[in-house]
Amino acid sequence: MQTASTNRFDAIVIGSGISGGYAAKELTEKGLKVLMLDRGVMVEHSEGYDYEGKPAFEVPARNRMPEPLRDSDYFIAKHGYVAPSSRKFYNDDRLNPYAYDEGSKFYWIRPGAVGGKSLIWGRWSFRWAEEDFTANKREGIDGVWPIGYDDLAPWYSKVEKYIGVSGSRENLPYLPDSEFMPPMPMNVAEKWLKQRLEAKFPGRKLINTRLSNITVDKPEQNRTKCQHRNQCGNGCSFGAYFSTQAVTLPAARATGRLTLQSDAVVTNLEYDPKAKRVTGVRYIDAKTGQAQVVNANLVFLCASAMGSVQVLMNSRAPGSEKSWFDNSGTLGRYVMDHIFRVGASGEIPGMTDLIEYGRRPGGVYIPRFRNIGGEEGVGFKRGYGYQGSAYRSPMWPVGFGAEMKHGMRKYAPWKFDMGAFGECLPYKDNRVSLHSSKVDRFGVPLMKFDVTFRENELKMMADARAQGEAMLKAAGLINVTSGESEHVPGDAIHEMGGARMGADPRNSVLNGFSQAHDAPNLYITDGAQMASVSCVNPSLTFMALTARAADHAVKQMRA
Ligand SMILES: Cc1cc2nc3c(=O)[nH]c(=O)nc-3n(C[C@H](O)[C@H](O)[C@H](O)COP(=O)(O)OP(=O)(O)OC[C@H]3O[C@@H](n4cnc5c(N)ncnc54)[C@H](O)[C@@H]3O)c2cc1C
Ligand code: SF4
Repeated sequence: MQTASTNRFDAIVIGSGISGGYAAKELTEKGLKVLMLDRGVMVEHSEGYDYEGKPAFEVPARNRMPEPLRDSDYFIAKHGYVAPSSRKFYNDDRLNPYAYDEGSKFYWIRPGAVGGKSLIWGRWSFRWAEEDFTANKREGIDGVWPIGYDDLAPWYSKVEKYIGVSGSRENLPYLPDSEFMPPMPMNVAEKWLKQRLEAKFPGRKLINTRLSNITVDKPEQNRTKCQHRNQCGNGCSFGAYFSTQAVTLPAARATGRLTLQSDAVVTNLEYDPKAKRVTGVRYIDAKTGQAQVVNANLVFLCASAMGSVQVLMNSRAPGSEKSWFDNSGTLGRYVMDHIFRVGASGEIPGMTDLIEYGRRPGGVYIPRFRNIGGEEGVGFKRGYGYQGSAYRSPMWPVGFGAEMKHGMRKYAPWKFDMGAFGECLPYKDNRVSLHSSKVDRFGVPLMKFDVTFRENELKMMADARAQGEAMLKAAGLINVTSGESEHVPGDAIHEMGGARMGADPRNSVLNGFSQAHDAPNLYITDGAQMASVSCVNPSLTFMALTARAADHAVKQMRA
């Protein structure tokens, strides 16, 4: 690892995931010399994708995670779908533990490589609606957003045009359209379901999913449209899905102004309370154990929602328990995740002469239909959306010899599965803190989670289950079932909050430009800044907020 000398950089970006990668691209393209630090191991685009395109029989253990390894090292990462082919993209939970008390289980699913979760995310990408920014205020919920949809709309457009989002224009009141590339087409069974479901439930829609997988080549970015292999979690040399490696890192490198250091574990920020400025970033080289401090005029903290909160909490005066950045008393509070693990499925009758062509990544979406614009009297606030797909699986082997072989050339009937993601409200006592006695191998106190879903979320999931089943039955599916399993915060991998935005420095950590109230040269542009979570997947919004914050930061620097 090369050594960074101090004062060489205009900005330091901590984290190279979806938010950090976007920050590095924007800042370097605006002329700043940027140092990007990431605690993960280096993975270069294409050459670092060890199992890309390989069939399961060429991957260790046929790409099934051996139970002893999973139980010893990846007991949390397994909820992010770790497999032998994607193992190096995930955190080793044994090496990097965290804590929670009995009764407040939290799955903190972390990446282990440069690029962060951009290498392993599902790529479902949606804009927030005005409703998402105004609901807290309208309902009297703690956490009024200092910005609205109009503040973010141009930044959504900028990001979408750049990264490439496929989807269909729908003009829906709740789910604003993006700048779309053509959608991944629905298969015949999904079209059948769409028509019947929308006829039975006026106002509800089943639409093409919105994905950060490109459906049109982007030669200027050296990216080729998606080949429908559905192996995205192993990396993609076509650059067909958005990742730091494929998109923002090459852009930042092309400016000649980026220095990237992997294996660099940031422990804390140094701060001058008189000047109210971050004066240094301390990190430890995970390979050598050496610590050093680097500095720059501007710091973008993008270590993922909970990772950034941990760095902030560990930034404090010697002997003090209070972070430099917690004058509001809200740091580490209002932690949220989406609630899910509710699903419905059934068999679609007929069309057994047809199968799907290729392996499309993604599926279809039923946007939120509950409580839009106000409460409907359904017993809970906010709502949920359903993600699903229709497919035919090859038949299971039955019998022996020729009979078995012939049997396996057939396909089972069409099935449709879907799962709901619901909005969790912000609760002050859903919080994280630094462990009072346990530290990690870098001397940083462990993160301790105390986050639970409440009555509103559980009632919402009960409704999602009932409505899911009702919709599939009414649409004419057979053998319809629904199910619900344990709801553990963190499990949806959409953790947010902990350093929320707000107009008032007395009850928020950041202002409306993602800038710390307590340090104007510090911006936190990942999920930590969110004052509520909508019910849609969040990462597109993190990128839009990051692009907006980078614009603001550079204008302020040059003012
Ligand atoms: C399996 C899976 C599916 C998902 N599907 C979707 C989806 O369909 N749509 C969607 O919107 N979202 C999805 N997500 C969530 C999405 O990945 C995250 O919202 C997004 O990656 C967050 O971006 P980020 O930059 O904040 O964090 P990350 O992408 O996690 O990046 C943070 C980076 O910071 C680094 N870091 C952390 N701490 C430190 C430190 N102390 N010092 C130095 N570096 C540090 C990490 O190594 C990492 O590289 C999914 C996630 C997973 C795992
Ligand atoms: S399905 Fe598309 S995006 Fe995913 S790995 Fe294949 S080509 Fe790449």
